[in-house]
Amino acid sequence: MRGEGQQGAAKLRTERALRMISRVLLSSLLSALLALTWLATAGAGALAPTPTPFGEPEGCWEPPDDYTRLWVNGALLNARTLAMLDHAQALYTARGGTLDLRLAITQGSYNPGGLAASFGTHDGGGAVDLSVRSRANWEVLWGEIPPLIAALRTAGFAAWLRDADELHPGSPIHIHAIAVGDAELSEAARAQLDGTFGYFRGYDGLPQINGVPRPDRHGGPVICAWMVARGFRDLRGQPNPYPTPGGTTVPPWPIP
Ligand SMILES: [Zn+2]
Repeated sequence: MRGEGQQGAAKLRTERALRMISRVLLSSLLSALLALTWLATAGAGALAPTPTPFGEPEGCWEPPDDYTRLWVNGALLNARTLAMLDHAQALYTARGGTLDLRLAITQGSYNPGGLAASFGTHDGGGAVDLSVRSRANWEVLWGEIPPLIAALRTAGFAAWLRDADELHPGSPIHIHAIAVGDAELSEAARAQLDGTFGYFRGYDGLPQINGVPRPDRHGGPVICAWMVARGFRDLRGQPNPYPTPGGTTVPPWPIP
């Protein structure tokens, strides 16, 4: 009898302990879930680029709508893109820039299937690649890159540095630029402006297999009044995709 009583008490203690353990496990699981949810929300908030209030930066200039095709340094560009490039040159030189942008062209526009790494962005108009290496000793001119990208953006290009090996193993370092508002952009180039991974959304323009856009490393889009007049605007923090007129998706309502 006595043995049975002891056994019963031991069983009761074991059951109580088991209940306690499962309660502790359940509550820690809940806390972990809560922490994960919080991290995901906070992470998304930190990553989503936010728009800045509009004020036209100095140096904005609307390019002429001239689509005459011209050969420059072995590359084909339209006159609009060339005018934008020359304007960028003026802005960049005024700030002490040393590169000659016409001579720095390594790939132009209207170059379908030219480079697989460009995934069609150079097929139409408005696309240009620029070397950032010294013509004298082939060194990368790191100091020239930030002022050059700033000048190109003010002149109306979505421009980013594509570092060595960034597009594919062995891809050369260069600046890739897409002329905002060019009527002859390929669809891939147009997507780099306001598509899911686009410039106006604060991203680097490179489609990602996992669908997560990568942030722009050069301080976000430069918005000029002429771009706004053509329906472009700062799309940072806007639902993605948010279409603009003439874009890759059809706008569901008229955008002022
Ligand atoms: Zn390019």
